[in-house]
Amino acid sequence: MAVINTLLDFWRKEHQRRGYEEIRTPLILDRALWIQSGHWDHYKENMYFTEIDEAPFAVKPMNCPGGMLVYKTHLRSYRDMPLRMAELGIVHRHERSGALHGLMRVRCFTQDDAHLYCRPDQVRQEVMGIMDLCDYIYKDVFGFTYHVELSTRPENSMGEPEQWDAAESALKEALESSGTKYRVNEGDGAFYGPKIDFHLEDCIGRTWQCGTIQLDFQMPERFDLTYVGEDGKEHRPVMLHRTVLGSVERFLGILIENYAGAFPFWIAPVQVKLIPIAEAHQQYVHELASVFREWGLRASVDERDEKLGKRIRDAQLEKVPYMIVIGDKEAETKSLSVRERAKGDLGSMTLDEFHALCDAEPNPLKK
Ligand code: ZN
Repeated sequence: MAVINTLLDFWRKEHQRRGYEEIRTPLILDRALWIQSGHWDHYKENMYFTEIDEAPFAVKPMNCPGGMLVYKTHLRSYRDMPLRMAELGIVHRHERSGALHGLMRVRCFTQDDAHLYCRPDQVRQEVMGIMDLCDYIYKDVFGFTYHVELSTRPENSMGEPEQWDAAESALKEALESSGTKYRVNEGDGAFYGPKIDFHLEDCIGRTWQCGTIQLDFQMPERFDLTYVGEDGKEHRPVMLHRTVLGSVERFLGILIENYAGAFPFWIAPVQVKLIPIAEAHQQYVHELASVFREWGLRASVDERDEKLGKRIRDAQLEKVPYMIVIGDKEAETKSLSVRERAKGDLGSMTLDEFHALCDAEPNPLKK
């Protein structure tokens, strides 16, 4: 949870910076809504159902229909466009038990979703904005390399071929004007529109599909979404579905694998481990832990009745970025003996020096 919460703090901050507003829609919605959205016809076998007061309801496998109800709560104008509504939505999808796999494939996960609504002339700009966000998060923040695929019209598609052609060329245009290299996956689009997928490569060369951008002309039709244009008339917005991390749970799995547990300082579950040499040093160690927590760090104390060497080794195995060992000398002089997981012993420091060291760590939350 410490890693997920830190990841989501960063995610929220970055989305706020890029003009998204955050929404939250219900987990269980009337079946009639799923018939209207097309999920009943195209996605039923992946969904869970329930009854409320003898009426049929479904547990959401996607956040879109709820998101569209949010769009419809207000009269929208061309001046409001583009609208960027983000949702950390918990979705349930039925997977065969044999397909389940650790954090990588689960039946309930958090999608870092967003729906963007725009005028037709804004599509390219919005798609490029999402690609820029993906690039920043994958490459700059987490150091992944990735490749991009464009998936086109599948067999069970909804809507007219001309709309599909228009949607596919809009995505191609965005890819080409941003100079992004991509390969085409014929027939692998969603039932409501073509998509751009981002495949991350981890440090040992495995690939994971994470982000996706889907262009959708269908759902605005089905839900009769409109905005008032400059001409005073009603127009249909273009809708984009997108995720960056994909599934937050799966992204956590990818991070664990990629870093082999040695998370970067800013997102490490425990950032500082304090080790008192003897019982006499415990009080000073707990005072220090409080100071670190005051600074916003995640600090823990290892005061187990184990030899010092074993406790240092255990912290090393847990890949905690900083270990601080406190004995008589440190307690007397109010200093810290600091070890870093890769560099080893950094020697003695004052509290201020250690604070400066932590502050100098790369931290996208402080950007
Ligand atoms: Zn959606």
